[in-house]
Amino acid sequence: MSDTLPDPLTHAEWTAALRDGRLLGQRCGACGNETAAPKAACNECGSREIETVELPTEGTVYTETTIAVAPAAFEGGYRVAVIDLGTEGNARVTARLESDADIGDAVAFSDVLEVDEPVPVFG
Ligand SMILES: [Zn+2]
Repeated sequence: MSDTLPDPLTHAEWTAALRDGRLLGQRCGACGNETAAPKAACNECGSREIETVELPTEGTVYTETTIAVAPAAFEGGYRVAVIDLGTEGNARVTARLESDADIGDAVAFSDVLEVDEPVPVFG
C-alpha cells in the first residue's frame, strides 16, 4: 500500500487510515524526524520537506497516565499513553491504553475509539 500514501497528508486522510487500522505519519526530509499525525511543517526543524510514511502498529509504552475524569461515555479511569513506535525518526503516537501495560511494555494498535474524533487504542 506504500505506493498509495496521500501526499500531503491531511487530517481527513490520517483519520480514514486510522479507521482502516493503519497509522500514517510524516518523515522530515531535512532532519529525519517523524510525527504520527499530520503537520504542515517539521516540528523539529521547521522544514516543509515532509513525506507521508506508514508507521508500525506495534511499539512500547513511552509514558502513560490515567485521567480521573473520563470522557462522558466512560466510567472510571481512562488511561492514555504515548506509544514509542520504535522508528528511526522517533515517531510517537498518543493513544488510549486498554491493557494494564506499563512504561516500557510492548503494545499493539488494536482498535479505534470514536469519541469526538477517532482515537487509536493500544493494548
Ligand atoms: Zn525536520
